[in-house]
Amino acid sequence: MSLDPHDLDPATWLIAAGRPEGPGDALNHPIIATSTFEHGGQRVYSRGEATEAWEALELVVGGLERAHGVAYASGMAAVSAVFDQLSVGATVVIPDDCYHGVSQVAATGEKLGRWAVTSLPMDDTARWVEARATADLVWAESPTNPMLIVGDLEAIGRAPHRPHARFVVDNTFATALRQQPLDLGADAVMQSSTKFIGGHSDLLGGIVTTRDAAYADTLRSARTLAGSVPGTLETFLALRGVRTLAMRLATAEASAATIAARLAEHVAVDVVRYPGFGAMVSFDVADAETADRVCQSLRVIRHATSLGGVESLIERRSRYSDTVPPGLVRLSVGCEGTEDLWADLARALDQ
Ligand code: PLP
Repeated sequence: MSLDPHDLDPATWLIAAGRPEGPGDALNHPIIATSTFEHGGQRVYSRGEATEAWEALELVVGGLERAHGVAYASGMAAVSAVFDQLSVGATVVIPDDCYHGVSQVAATGEKLGRWAVTSLPMDDTARWVEARATADLVWAESPTNPMLIVGDLEAIGRAPHRPHARFVVDNTFATALRQQPLDLGADAVMQSSTKFIGGHSDLLGGIVTTRDAAYADTLRSARTLAGSVPGTLETFLALRGVRTLAMRLATAEASAATIAARLAEHVAVDVVRYPGFGAMVSFDVADAETADRVCQSLRVIRHATSLGGVESLIERRSRYSDTVPPGLVRLSVGCEGTEDLWADLARALDQ
């Protein structure tokens, strides 16, 4: 009997949906290591046809937003898939603070003469609304990475636009449990499942969700040709990881709120950015050297890029971009004990 996400708490949907249901079936879809299938069945080749676990991952993540899911080999494969749908000469709007991979995809396409890019501050709603009127792709990210700026997605979503234009939101930081851009007028949502969906820093993946069945089909066909499909192990891990998203996010978020409040009181910290939800906190210390010293002297929190795992991760973000403050430290709060995390941070900052 198939479940309906409308009837269920999202935490229940994440755990109960997308499982084998026949008598004697295993509770979980298996890792199927094959590139091809015997002719005569529904599946022909693993670049084109999804395994049951892959279909289940798309169902479970898409179902949270009552949408179709299209899973990819990484978040950047999903980003590129959306940009690749643009016609030559398109106009694109992105946030001036966003994941550096996205701004690089936009800039590279512009350099090749494929499209023209405008970058806007994510919180300058009037300019986003104005830009939406003529843009072919409006790509928002909220909260942004790493400044954690929140955009008014609803105002942008409801703004007048050309009939074919697409409004796509990178929802990696908020996830569908904290923000549902498709309800606010977005045509599609992109998430790096490497982060909160997977939740254990052990896979790369991405997913686009959309309520537009034709757009989902277009993305699937393009994915088959591009070969940007998720691997069987990664699919299994992402599906296993997303089962616990609700409790992981709740635990990490509670710690993030406490840590953000305490950081704001610490003499070594100049600015704290916390959007009031989620598990990401950014804060500024005096300079890049101080930021590196803090990151390197932690014991529980790991000094590594990425985010969204049960393991807290920290790094200085000016290593990737000269547009962020030199001493900006991005902290992805995980599921360790709050007091252990704070003790680790306070000791590093006190030094
Ligand atoms: N979008 C955001 C907000 C990210 O933080 C990242 C990666 O850090 C990506 C997209 C790209 O995802 P992936 O690393 O899975 O390709």
